[in-house]
Amino acid sequence: MTRFPLPPNATIGIVGGGQLGRMSAMAAARLGYRCHILTPEPDSPAAQVAAGVTLGDYEDPAALRDFALHADVITFEFENVSAEGLDLLASLKPVRPAPAVLRVSQERIIEKTFLNQAGVPTAPWAPVATEADLLAVLPRIGLPAILKTTRLGYDGRGQTRVTTEAAAREAYRRLLPHPLILEGMVDFACEISVVCARGADGGTTAFDVVENRHRDHILDLTFAPARIPEEIAATAQALARRVADALDLVGLLAVEMFVTADGRVLANEIAPRPHNSGHWTIDACPASQFEMHVRAVAGLPLPPAARHADAVMKNLVGPEELALWPRIVATPGLIPHLYGKAEARAGRKMGHVTRLFPKGGLPGPFGVAAALGVLGAGGDDAAAV
Ligand code: AMP
Repeated sequence: MTRFPLPPNATIGIVGGGQLGRMSAMAAARLGYRCHILTPEPDSPAAQVAAGVTLGDYEDPAALRDFALHADVITFEFENVSAEGLDLLASLKPVRPAPAVLRVSQERIIEKTFLNQAGVPTAPWAPVATEADLLAVLPRIGLPAILKTTRLGYDGRGQTRVTTEAAAREAYRRLLPHPLILEGMVDFACEISVVCARGADGGTTAFDVVENRHRDHILDLTFAPARIPEEIAATAQALARRVADALDLVGLLAVEMFVTADGRVLANEIAPRPHNSGHWTIDACPASQFEMHVRAVAGLPLPPAARHADAVMKNLVGPEELALWPRIVATPGLIPHLYGKAEARAGRKMGHVTRLFPKGGLPGPFGVAAALGVLGAGGDDAAAV
């Protein structure tokens, strides 16, 4: 029987071997916990810094059982384990967040229905199971719109922007598997996110709202805090807390949102785990998102999600940005993080860099570009901030 709070030296099982698991395991180690990783990948970023690893498939009952045997509590950095796999894990050890939470975040129709029922606004959307559905909902959703697959879509995969009915029909046939969802295109002023932790006692703590810039659909830069009016930031944090409460979450939650030109906040996506847009918290906060994750899962108290500095986080994606590494480590003020991935494929997140600024001192347009100039990063994008 697992006792909470988890005593020192207990083992947290992490499903998934990527960088989110790696940084969670590093935070766990600092709190005196061991981590055991489940991943099919030999030499994964998380396993490199963990006490143990079960090498196996997320759907293999034998691997899941072996993994659970090593863990006192189980959590995730990879959410797309099948319902059967989740149920098996939950029958063996406490799973935080609960499988029901993961099921909401795994499927866009369930996710958006859940958000709307919880009173969280989203872009207008409709499920599309057939081509007839598509034609029926197009007038209401309007064009341009985005067709998205309902599962396993991330970093822009499984989605297509469409501007005509013909293009929508063509995209419908190409995007698989069905059903899809059709979403109205949001004319956003900026993209923001909130990372929020919630404990077993229902207490929540939310990090400051950050602004995210994407390149080729992949997060490129995060600015902390977001340069948005205070009321909008308060609305975004309240929405994230509302989602965490509605999910009865024990763990960490990231909510990606759009701020529209007229100041509305619309939720786009939720992830019940540490999030790329929260990496800046390692360097700018007394307790990072990873520590909050571990604390929530272990049943430790959650400190306020305080921030002692402003920050800009730049992802290092693919071989081109990894090639900046020698310059990055030679530049005072840049805080380097590398994930231990042996191979730098295009579009692969290899690491990130954080730069801190005095609180309230996040520079304006040219400052940020100059601050990151050493990375060749941001360019027009950052200059436009
Ligand atoms: P997603 O896979 O849903 O997180 O979307 C990836 C990115 O596509 C978002 O971060 C946005 O930049 C863009 N995007 C997704 N949905 C919409 C939408 N309804 N309107 C405008 N942009 C969107």
